[in-house]
Order: sequence, then C-alpha cells, then structure tokens
Amino acid sequence: MSASPQGRELPFPLSQSLCARCGWGKRVESERGSVFLMCRRASRDSGFERYPLQPVISCTGHEEPGEQAGLGDAGG
Ligand code: SF4
Repeated sequence: MSASPQGRELPFPLSQSLCARCGWGKRVESERGSVFLMCRRASRDSGFERYPLQPVISCTGHEEPGEQAGLGDAGG
C-alpha cells in the first residue's frame, strides 16, 4: 500500500498508477470497500476516461497536485 494525493492508502496495483500521483486523480471507495481511482479531468475533457484502466503508466494529462485550477476536494 502507498498513499494517494488525498493521503489515503491505495492497494496494489493502484499504488503504482500515475493517477495516484496526479492532481486529477481521486480515490473512490465503494460501500463494499472496493477502491478505485477516478480521473476528475474526464469531467472537463472527453479525451479522458472517468475510470481509466489501471494502472496508468503514461498520460498526457498528468499534473502535479495543486496545479488544477478551480478543482475542489469534491470535484469531478
Ligand atoms: S489526468 Fe491522467 S494521470 Fe491524471 S488522473 Fe487522469 S488519467 Fe490519471
């Protein structure tokens, strides 16, 4: 396990994903405890999948956390 941009633990292979270190990535947990990585960039750009196949190893949309203008904690 390793921490996501939101500071929560992520299971393998999500922990290896570029989304786990991207400001657009958001950790989502189902009621049954399954963990997903959502791409919040998808809500603004149709060129991105809301739930990309994981682990993502290369992405033209990757940005460091904090570079996403107007994106709040609940964004997406
Ligand atoms: S922009 Fe790319 S790296 Fe960032 S969360 Fe979306 S799919 Fe993942």
